[in-house]
Amino acid sequence: MIQAQFEKTFEGWRSVARELASQNVPPHEIQWSDETISLFAHFNDLANNSQKMNNSTGSTTSQVKVPAEFIKMAQTVSYAKDADRWELLYRVLYRLNFENSNLMNITIDADISRAENLVAAIRKDIHKLHAFVRFKKLIINGEDTYVAWHKPEHLIIKPGTSFFARRFGDKRWSIFTPDESAHWDLKKLTFGPGMRQNDFQIQDGWDEIWKTYYKSIFNPSRIKIKMMKSEMSPKYWSSMPETALIRDLIREAPQRLQEMAKNQNQAAVVSLNKSIEELKIDIKTCTACPLYKDASQAVFGTGPQDAEIMIVGEQPGDQEDLAGLPFVGPAGEILNQALKNAQLDREKIYLTNAVKHFKWTRHNKMRLHQKPTGSNMHACKPWLEAEIAQIKPKIIIALGATAATAVLGRLPKISEERGKIIYGSPYAEKIIISWHPSAILRSTDPSDSQERAQQLSSDLGLAK
Ligand code: URA
Repeated sequence: MIQAQFEKTFEGWRSVARELASQNVPPHEIQWSDETISLFAHFNDLANNSQKMNNSTGSTTSQVKVPAEFIKMAQTVSYAKDADRWELLYRVLYRLNFENSNLMNITIDADISRAENLVAAIRKDIHKLHAFVRFKKLIINGEDTYVAWHKPEHLIIKPGTSFFARRFGDKRWSIFTPDESAHWDLKKLTFGPGMRQNDFQIQDGWDEIWKTYYKSIFNPSRIKIKMMKSEMSPKYWSSMPETALIRDLIREAPQRLQEMAKNQNQAAVVSLNKSIEELKIDIKTCTACPLYKDASQAVFGTGPQDAEIMIVGEQPGDQEDLAGLPFVGPAGEILNQALKNAQLDREKIYLTNAVKHFKWTRHNKMRLHQKPTGSNMHACKPWLEAEIAQIKPKIIIALGATAATAVLGRLPKISEERGKIIYGSPYAEKIIISWHPSAILRSTDPSDSQERAQQLSSDLGLAK
């Protein structure tokens, strides 16, 4: 029996596994020790292993070849915490070389199916890391530093944290797990040892921020306790401050539901016969939903009254709220570029939003956009309907889920329904839906954002 000694990383496993497979060493003759040893010892041992192998198997060597998909899969499986992962990977590597080069396609094979299950489990674990990490702010060496503790199932710090470097690249942060940690110093990502939860006890106001956020997104009409537990397993709850609220929120749900129902019935009362000029005056005093309280002003639509195309966005942003005009901020710039690509003249289009007041929350000195709720949309819908009745556009282009829901009366999946003409709406002969420019701005994946920008241009082109 050969004791494989290697650094417990994919690269460490790969160099030893290649060596062993090239010597035709069958899987049952290798023990994949799970102790971590130094790189130096690894090289010494590798030399010893090869010698032992040459003695026991003769000096026959073969070239080890594996498909690229195996490498990809093996890299992911190497992040699993399961002690048998290295031997499983070696078995697949060996079988690919000496049994069936097509093995990767045999999904019912026990080894392949186990490896695929591990890949799926790791992806899910990474997804949970992205969703459930909660940072706390500390001042370390005079610098604001955000730190978080999380307990994943697997060893996913390396594959899972580049997401945070992209998302929070302008802040120093560290994420600790029991086994490993990741650190971002504004320039590079480094990895270090883990930390027990008991050693990670930091108190500050950060928990309160998360609790407020969670309370604001909690929708009592959608309580599905079973699903909540499976999506956000109680084992993560100890590191998530907002979970302390779950019991209270569930208890208060019936009352909150009633309040929501009351609010939902409230819609602006607007006459469809009023001119655009009259509507612009009337909307200044609209109090149909609470958003008027924090906004600077209602932002009504703008553009020629004989426009054939109407573009509907979600709601005014920070700059639109101050200027009193739609699409004049960063989202407007993206829209302008897409209109230019589509050779559409913005001056000939009527631009408006599904919700006319800016909904925001304060974060330090910034006013951060908040998504309007169903009752905000319901309250504001008569204004949009009155605009449509006056402009009578041939085509309405709805950007993003809020606008598309307002125009179609149902929540569509933008990725599936964009890029085609939708008929049968009472509002216009043709409806086109596409990405909201903010979805392009906010996307953390550059290729995704580029693709959506191209799709927005081509969807506007379709309207042309
Ligand atoms: N986002 C919108 O949906 N509308 C605007 O007017 C600005 C940003």
